[in-house]
Amino acid sequence: MQKRVFRGAMLIALLSALFVALVGAISDYVSAGRETESRLWQEARLLAALSDALQEEEAFLNAVKSLPLTERVTWLDEDGVVRYDNQSDASSLESHLEREEIQQAQETGEGWSRRYSETLLNDRIYVACRLGNGGYVRVSTSLATVGGRLWAMAWPLALAIAVVIALTAALSRRWTRALVAPMNRIDLENPLQGDAYDELAPMLRRLADQKERLESQLREIGRRRDERDAIIEHMKEGLLLLDQQGHVLLMNDSARRILRTETPVDGRTPLSAYHRSATLFHAVDDALKNGTAQVEMSAGGRDYLLTASAVARERGLVVLLQDVTERNAAEELRKRFSANVSHELRTPLTSISGYAELIQSGMTQPQDVPLFAHKIRHESQRLLKLVEDIMRLSRMDEGHGVGRFQSVSLLKAAQEAAQNYAQAAAERGVSVITEGQDVQIQADPTLLGEMLCNLIENAVKYNRDGGEVRVSVQRLEDAARVRVRDTGIGIPAAHIDHVFERFYRVDGSRSKQTGGTGLGLSIVKHGAKLHGASVELQSDVGVGTTVTLTFALPEGER
Ligand code: ADP
Repeated sequence: MQKRVFRGAMLIALLSALFVALVGAISDYVSAGRETESRLWQEARLLAALSDALQEEEAFLNAVKSLPLTERVTWLDEDGVVRYDNQSDASSLESHLEREEIQQAQETGEGWSRRYSETLLNDRIYVACRLGNGGYVRVSTSLATVGGRLWAMAWPLALAIAVVIALTAALSRRWTRALVAPMNRIDLENPLQGDAYDELAPMLRRLADQKERLESQLREIGRRRDERDAIIEHMKEGLLLLDQQGHVLLMNDSARRILRTETPVDGRTPLSAYHRSATLFHAVDDALKNGTAQVEMSAGGRDYLLTASAVARERGLVVLLQDVTERNAAEELRKRFSANVSHELRTPLTSISGYAELIQSGMTQPQDVPLFAHKIRHESQRLLKLVEDIMRLSRMDEGHGVGRFQSVSLLKAAQEAAQNYAQAAAERGVSVITEGQDVQIQADPTLLGEMLCNLIENAVKYNRDGGEVRVSVQRLEDAARVRVRDTGIGIPAAHIDHVFERFYRVDGSRSKQTGGTGLGLSIVKHGAKLHGASVELQSDVGVGTTVTLTFALPEGER
């Protein structure tokens, strides 16, 4: 800024100095010309008068030589032939009759001209007077040109320019400092406060507006960034952002947990430093080449669906890790269930079809027919029960298995369920005892009845002859409990965790023989879940089994 001001001021000062010098030289030239011209006129008229007075050529020339006259004097005869020239050899000069000043003098007695002299090689002014004898006297002197005058002024001009440069430098520095000082004092945090001069006011207002706009944009960007960070950090899926070279640029908390890494993210560390998994590396490579890749991987005993997608071909990858353990388990369960269902259905149907074929063939003894009919009926009932249980479980899986909840007496429900198995128990000498307090719970009566029936049926079925089944209902502080205890065969410890799985049987033949489907305890477990109740099974082989259902009581009934 200071340099530009200095250069500008300097240019103006120099141009002004040159202009002044030029104008001075021109006016000097003009005024010097006028002065010289009038002096020449006086001298020419004096010489003319002298010539007329002296008459004698020699006397006149002596007088001319003795006079302190201007530079050049030329004396001509009436034909213009040079008779005398004080600066040239007269005989070498041509006739001057055609010269402009001589022509004028011929006509009017006096003549004047200004021109370049081929003899003396400079700009000259000529004045001529006609003499009484017909000849002419002419005086002339040189005129310095404007350039010459300027040249003559060169030294003073150079001195003046040097002074101008020094002054301009000093002044421009002062002015620039004075100009810049208020700008330097502007507080960019508060541009409108301060003592900057008025000319800066529009710029300062714009600065203030821009600052406000910038601040609000920064606030908005910050808010969006915080929002995005919160979403990324709290999402339950693992998220990673990689650059084209596979360096990790971002990793959320879930990804850290899944990959079990504490290594900090600095944008320069490769993925291999965080987790060693060939599946992960292949998926990333694949996505970098093809734009996208999807694969399942295991980490920490859980299954994850890994989706890697290129953000923009040149910029990197987003890797998403979704926990699909439950989904896979459910899928696996569904597959096993389907396989089991078809197997379970086929077995009684094969028996039924076999017995029916035997009867139809006529090869059976008539006394065997009732036995076969009994077997067909038994298998049909088992089939019917199986289909009913499958339907019930499927409905519960879909969330439709539960009806309207209502207040139900747990003791009454237990007594009704026990009643259903009184005959079966009596046949084997098993005594079924129902005891306890009357507690009202919120339940779907049908589903609750089914759950209790399944438990009591198992307690009778897997009991020893002459054994006991005790169904006790108890009110706890904030819950109601029903416990089905038998004195039966018990369940080996290794099987206890599995008996609630669908179609799981400790002893398949006994279950089938007694009309079991392998779904009874699954229904109990599912039903308990729908009621918000807990199931607990405790068993000792040869001693007996106890299954306990605990229902939480609603606030008002505690
Ligand atoms: P099932 O229709 O075969 O009885 P459940 O799902 O009700 O099917 O029971 C699963 C398996 O658990 C049974 O096959 C049986 O082996 C065992 N079990 C269930 N309850 C008892 C019990 N009270 N005593 C001994 N074993 C039992």
